[in-house]
Amino acid sequence: MRIVLLGPPGAGKGTQAVSLMKEYDLVHVSTGDIFRYNIKNETELGKKVKSYLSAGKLVPDELTIDLVWSKLDSDECKEGFLLDGFPRTISQAEAFDKGLHKRGIQLDGVINIQVDKELLLTRLEGRRVCKHCGATYHCQNNPPKVEGVCDVCGGKVIQREDDKRETLLHRIEVYEQETAPLVDYYKDSGYMINVDGSKPINEVFETIKESLKKDR
Ligand code: ADP
Ligand code: AMP
Repeated sequence: MRIVLLGPPGAGKGTQAVSLMKEYDLVHVSTGDIFRYNIKNETELGKKVKSYLSAGKLVPDELTIDLVWSKLDSDECKEGFLLDGFPRTISQAEAFDKGLHKRGIQLDGVINIQVDKELLLTRLEGRRVCKHCGATYHCQNNPPKVEGVCDVCGGKVIQREDDKRETLLHRIEVYEQETAPLVDYYKDSGYMINVDGSKPINEVFETIKESLKKDR
């Protein structure tokens, strides 16, 4: 199965990705996670993209598109993938379509997780992540069992630098300008699935599963 998760920052893409990966045995490809990994390890790519992430700006398309294909073309993604955070611009979506066409691959679903701006702010300001394994929590809705300690790996749970209010407001603006047009782009594709992301985590997951079963 090949799935794209679409939606504003804080919609719950990463949260749903964890359950979808387990359910369908998919590889989770999060461009944000790949960039953060490279920044943490001070790679050449990390040095190039650091300032964009800190400012809540999009990384240039030319750095993003090739990176995604190098991952999707690897053996681990042969059986399926779950793309989270890509495409994020119309030109990324067009390049992605071309690449899919060239490889004779079709998507099984573009899952558009919809959440109002007010709720996004609450979610992003409260989001906490494990510094070590990336597991996601929320300081009120979904805290780790022991404050500041990851349930999965025991790592330190922190707030992402770009989840501070000023940067996250900018990220939501960038979403509205650059990424929201993708909803129209995929609207008539035949594989768009719209999901109400304001519902509880399990309910959102059940809705996605039901929608993936249906022929579109
Ligand atoms: P995204 O990957 O789309 O940026 P996340 O999956 O990281 O979003 O979720 C953002 C925050 O909202 C996290 O703190 C997460 O625990 C919380 N969250 C995600 N989905 C829900 C939901 N359905 N209900 C309540 N909180 C949620
Ligand atoms: P995310 O983890 O999806 O919230 O992404 C964090 C940051 O990574 C974004 O604010 C961008 O700076 C960068 N990023 C992630 N995916 C992309 C993409 N497809 N195109 C450009 N920048 C991206």
